[in-house]
Amino acid sequence: MESPVCTETFPIDGCVKSTSKKSKTSRSVESDIESLYKAVPQLAKTFRIIDKIGEGTFSSVYLGEARMRDGSRDMFALKHLIPISHPTRIAAELQCLTVVGGRENVMGVEYCFRKEDHVVIVMPYMEHQAIIDVIGLLSFEEVRLYIYHLLKALRHIHQFGVIHRDIKPNNFLYNRKAKTFALVDFGLAQGTADTQIKLLKDLLGIRKAQRPVFSERNLNSCTSAASTTKQANKTESVRPGDLSNRRFPSARGGPASVRTQKPQRTAQQTFTCSCFQTDRVCNVCLARKQQVAPRAGTPGFRAPEVLTKCPNQGTAIDVWSAGVILLSLLSGRYPFFKASDDMIALAQIMTIRGSRETGRAAKAFGKAVLCSRELPRLDLRELCETLRGRRPLPDDEVPPVTDCKDTDIDGTGKTPAPLPKGQDPTPGEKPWSGLHDERGWDRVPDEAYDLLDRLLDLNPNSRITAALALQHPLFKGL
Ligand code: ADP
Ligand code: MG
Ligand code: ZN
Repeated sequence: MESPVCTETFPIDGCVKSTSKKSKTSRSVESDIESLYKAVPQLAKTFRIIDKIGEGTFSSVYLGEARMRDGSRDMFALKHLIPISHPTRIAAELQCLTVVGGRENVMGVEYCFRKEDHVVIVMPYMEHQAIIDVIGLLSFEEVRLYIYHLLKALRHIHQFGVIHRDIKPNNFLYNRKAKTFALVDFGLAQGTADTQIKLLKDLLGIRKAQRPVFSERNLNSCTSAASTTKQANKTESVRPGDLSNRRFPSARGGPASVRTQKPQRTAQQTFTCSCFQTDRVCNVCLARKQQVAPRAGTPGFRAPEVLTKCPNQGTAIDVWSAGVILLSLLSGRYPFFKASDDMIALAQIMTIRGSRETGRAAKAFGKAVLCSRELPRLDLRELCETLRGRRPLPDDEVPPVTDCKDTDIDGTGKTPAPLPKGQDPTPGEKPWSGLHDERGWDRVPDEAYDLLDRLLDLNPNSRITAALALQHPLFKGL
């Protein structure tokens, strides 16, 4: 690939804005930038690195300015991957960007630098806003457009057999003024069985070869009584808070506990489980071999089949995440689900989609989900309008999500997060009194909730695809 940027030496001194009073953060950004120049010295020939714009578990992203061949200056996003990433993983991320990216709302790539184990992916810089800063300002029309463009990106990558696995607003850049969108971050992407991205296929092979990984409890199935009991006890002692002790606030405020299990025992397992259809986990089950299934992503955006570790996961998992984003945008709450672990995330899904419905769907993909109390499926319009403050709270019925307000779920915080100051719904006003809403929140068509219902289909086999969702009546005229 030939560099589109001018490779003359670029003066790097003065690359960081010098101000007399530097905050601690700006000093640490400066030192990060210096370290990056040291790790990948060729960057200095091309870029003036201005700022750090993102920091995740697997990378840091910087804003860089380059002088182009024609003398103009352009801005780029420089993604510095953590040096411990697997080479095939890095190459696969790059291949997704080069083969799939650059069109249909998917970020492309311009160039890539490497020195030893340091890799920097250079992408066009796209100015964008964090969803938390704009969610309370968006009109219904803007939400409709946002979801349309997200689904367009998903249709495109799914056509190539790419499962993104980490669909969330932070990975879908949104420029509200310019109405531009870009899906980024293929760092967790995986291929479908027939993927066109060769390196994603290779990645499947690597994952298989690497099993078992250290983070998985890979206890052998019951081969001898002594070893099983020992292993089961060991497991219990290292995991003091087993699932049976976890309690979740439920729709009506009382505790409900949730867990999943494989519904059928294998012939190999000779010991009798004593916990089936109860809300405890017995020693035999604790000693079961962990089912290996990919589980990347962010708990609040994970599909039920991901949360329950269903081994056959497809592009439908991205569609679920898009549904969670739509739920967030329609209700004006971000993040909508905030869960510290998968069982809490599943419990939160059940408070919205119903416990019986979740159990039924799980059965369809080979999992049993138990919930100690029945949680009714909620009407999505009622839920979103209530959370937006456009509907009074029913007297005797506290909506499930706000119910969590005073209950610190597992010590992690509230679900969903309240809106930042100055954003809708306006305090003191009674918006449900029939006031006209200039952002269109008084006229949300049924189609919006119908699409939401289809994106948040608990069963991945019947969940709408991105391609079909784009033909939904909600998008008429786009
Ligand atoms: P990570 O794997 O660390 O999450 P991402 O690729 O998601 O890395 O990038 C992290 C953040 O950096 C994004 O959420 C976004 O704010 C910013 N970013 C990434 N790529 C670009 C880009 N091309 N233009 C502008 N900002 C970007
Ligand atoms: Mg990211
Ligand atoms: Zn059991």
